[in-house]
Amino acid sequence: MEREKIIAKMQSLISEIDKHNYNYYVLDNPTISDAEYDKIYYSLVDLEKESGITLPYSPTLRVGGEVLAGFEKRKHEVNLYSLNKVRDYDDLNAWVADMNKLTGGTEFAVEYKFDGLSLVIEYQNGLFKSATTRGNGTVGEDVTSQVKTIRTVPLSIPFKGRLIVQGEGMMTNKSFAEYNKTAEEKLKNPRNGVAGAIRNLDPKETAKRKLDFFCYQVLLSEGKEFKTQKEIHDFIKAQGFLTGDYFHICTNAQQIIDCIEEVDKIKNDIDTMIDGMVIKINNVSSREDIGWTAKFPRWAMAFKFAAQEVSTILENVLWQVGRTGRVTPIANLQPVELAGATVTRATLNNIDDIKRKGVLENSRVFVRRSNEVIPEIMGLAERFENSKEIKVPLVCPSCGQPLVLKGPLLYCENHFGCREQVVDRISHFASRNAMNIEGFSEKTAGALYDNLGVRHLSDLYKLSKEDLLTLEKFKDKKANNTINSLEGSKQTELYKFLYSLGIPEVGIKTAKDLAKRFKTLQNIMSASEEELVDVEDIGEIIAKNIKTFFEDKYNLDEVQKLFDCGIVIEQVAAATETNAFVEGKTFVLTGTLSKPRKEIEDLIESLGGKTSGSVSKKTDYVLAGQEAGSKLDKAKSLGVKVINESEFFSLIND
Ligand code: AMP
Ligand code: ZN
Repeated sequence: MEREKIIAKMQSLISEIDKHNYNYYVLDNPTISDAEYDKIYYSLVDLEKESGITLPYSPTLRVGGEVLAGFEKRKHEVNLYSLNKVRDYDDLNAWVADMNKLTGGTEFAVEYKFDGLSLVIEYQNGLFKSATTRGNGTVGEDVTSQVKTIRTVPLSIPFKGRLIVQGEGMMTNKSFAEYNKTAEEKLKNPRNGVAGAIRNLDPKETAKRKLDFFCYQVLLSEGKEFKTQKEIHDFIKAQGFLTGDYFHICTNAQQIIDCIEEVDKIKNDIDTMIDGMVIKINNVSSREDIGWTAKFPRWAMAFKFAAQEVSTILENVLWQVGRTGRVTPIANLQPVELAGATVTRATLNNIDDIKRKGVLENSRVFVRRSNEVIPEIMGLAERFENSKEIKVPLVCPSCGQPLVLKGPLLYCENHFGCREQVVDRISHFASRNAMNIEGFSEKTAGALYDNLGVRHLSDLYKLSKEDLLTLEKFKDKKANNTINSLEGSKQTELYKFLYSLGIPEVGIKTAKDLAKRFKTLQNIMSASEEELVDVEDIGEIIAKNIKTFFEDKYNLDEVQKLFDCGIVIEQVAAATETNAFVEGKTFVLTGTLSKPRKEIEDLIESLGGKTSGSVSKKTDYVLAGQEAGSKLDKAKSLGVKVINESEFFSLIND
């Protein structure tokens, strides 16, 4: 073939491949099979081999070329600015008011704030030319070979003028998980994953990480002017870039806040890491009027979500015995601010988890907020000279009995002689959502164990007023109340009883769902795993937990003893489903509460209320536990009612 013909053939193959790449990677909607795609792709590879010609925008270059000797510096043609930031609605409102004053009323574009590595990409004559990291904003590093491997960076675009765009190199959670499945050296988080991939001298390594590029700005466009951010957004999209699917035009502060709230709720479910929202004045000519400071544009603002992940020092590990006898590692941390609260402890789940994450005592670790009150340790950030391995105990830290390993889980099987687990079991049983025994605390449970020999739940019903009076802090009135309360609790409802047994992961909502479906305890105890899973919101793990719980002879014995003490389950339909205080109201939980946050959220939802992650004017109540942080401040500044846990429960019970 003649050279011209070869090139023409290559061009047609390339545009076909580009189209399928776009469908697959940007639109997530492939129109041909992998095999069909490969056929086209490899005919291009063959043609390149035979002819010795490779066009500069050939998709075969995406696999990564030669290892580089070092990174060249490149001066940015257009300076890159940082973004000014706010963390609460007051400051956001103030900024919006300023902007409205300066412009006489304006529109705002609201988009994701991507949390990856900022990149600048240049195109000439419609072809990918170079890519540069942000660097210090004036000078960055040439990462052209690395960025070329990113499938969502188009190698050729319809626009033929010179074009410089900015966006964020990202590793999606999916690519992150997939990479870590086989990687020898595991990545700590997607953000480190991108930075390490792009600042890697071997572009083949970059290619392996399967990065994405989300484009959000045009820095220079020869021969084309834009009137609004919306036009910029549409233009970027039309060039084949990925933009992140969130783009809204707002005309006032409340609309912006609504957008923020909406994304705040789903941010953990989207596949890319975002750490906030960026609000930009939509009108480009207004931007010129408003201008820039030395550091950032005055016409844009980032609203940062409270950090979901931070790093801190893991000081040591405490092994805690729970009500089921399970011994869990709890890490003591150097106090750190996370998602609006001060965190001092985090869970490590189990032994495998410790090994997998490679965390050590006296090391820096990543901590992330999850739904529970107690956050989770994600991995090792940095080890020090004095870092040391976490020792797994051989005997129970509470009772000294040898521990039993079941899979990755450690158990103390000293069911009725292990103080920590009995105390935890009794406290749970007596707690408000369970049997609601008055005047009960973990301390009381401890005193009952130590002084009155309480070992079984049923032992509680054998206590006399005289017994209680021997305890510290128990005066006549309190002892009376507790005895009456115990007596009254014997007449109970199925879901309360079920919840009070403390089956792992059976919260109040699950207990209600079970009661509603199965009607009697007998039915629940004899239900098969399939029947249990059939209940909405009950998954395999919970089903297994329930099954295992009722197969355990100790548990069966305990249940029988409770009935022998006169417990009667009323055969009424599950409790009223809603609650006048909670129904239709929105709650925000903050600080350390006496039980897992999820449990209280479940309760609120089961009573017809709503919960939200951040405080706004729409919040009805902020339920503040100990060490409540910025959410509390915000509630105060917005005049939202703040209640503590005991007020909350007494309002529910009224
Ligand atoms: P920061 O790095 O926290 O100072 O935030 C500023 C950076 O946010 C910018 O330099 C961009 O890299 C990044 N960023 C992420 N998403 C956007 C967006 N939608 N618009 C502008 N900048 C963004
Ligand atoms: Zn023990």
